[in-house]
Amino acid sequence: MKRKLADLHLHSTASDGKLEPASVINHAFECGLKAVSLTDHDTIKGLPEAEMQARQLGLEFINGVELSTFFDGRECHILGYGFDADDEDLWKVLNHQVCQRNDRAGAMIDELNKLGFEITFDEVWAEADNAPISRVHIARVMLGKRYCATQNEVFLKFLGNDAPAYVPFELINAEDGIAAIHRAGGVAILAHPSNYYLYEDLKKLMDWGIDGFEYIHPSHNYTQQMKYFNHAKNFDLLITGGSDFHGYLNKDFINLGLVGIDIEHYHKLAKEITRQSKNIELT
Ligand code: AMP
Ligand code: MN
Ligand code: MN
Ligand code: MN
Repeated sequence: MKRKLADLHLHSTASDGKLEPASVINHAFECGLKAVSLTDHDTIKGLPEAEMQARQLGLEFINGVELSTFFDGRECHILGYGFDADDEDLWKVLNHQVCQRNDRAGAMIDELNKLGFEITFDEVWAEADNAPISRVHIARVMLGKRYCATQNEVFLKFLGNDAPAYVPFELINAEDGIAAIHRAGGVAILAHPSNYYLYEDLKKLMDWGIDGFEYIHPSHNYTQQMKYFNHAKNFDLLITGGSDFHGYLNKDFINLGLVGIDIEHYHKLAKEITRQSKNIELT
């Protein structure tokens, strides 16, 4: 088998995924991928385990993270790649995000209690098991108590962005998130932009130094893929992609090994990171 696909968007138990980091990498390898990145939400704690496993299997690996940020009053996900995982400022940003997630989980649990559901912070904390608390962990506790039948139902009825128990985040601004990734020696990529961004929005993100766009994502149709492919080409920016694997949906396992980018685009990304880190050393 000739391996030529890179999946640069994977989640593990370090955030809201279902499989341990090493297990995610094993699945990626079995699906025939050549290069991977683990991109957990607001945490880089899964990276050492994932990297070690990737090395053992001979998979190319790059550090990753999916930062939840705020852009013009709404949530904006920014992927960071190739940063130094020991960067102190990056850890400060991530620790801040984790605290915000804990506060927000408490507020959402209060809302669920008001709606009559018996669910406690301790139960959700145990479910998260050291990962930054996500709505997914709250949903799993709801499912365990048979308040709903599926995670999607929990989101539709209670935790989704327009649902009654939803509480927004106090997140880092997109501009500051991009800067934090850059300071740590990484590149910043706009995750799954879909149809959420007008040209002016993209322009703003580019002014703030966004390095590229995630053009391949399960939520993108062909038109959206081409829009971001061409946009990156016009502005000489990078393109990335991946399956956004979380390890609990059927489609996660269908997409793994299929939804990704050509290894050439991955090598271009890796080269750009090396180039930028050399510039940092020179200045
Ligand atoms: P949070 O980061 O706490 O805001 O939680 C968002 C996470 O919930 C996403 O990263 C997805 O993994 C998951 N998610 C979002 N929408 C849905 C949905 N409709 N059904 C199931 N899971 C969802
Ligand atoms: Mn998620
Ligand atoms: Mn995302
Ligand atoms: Mn994701």
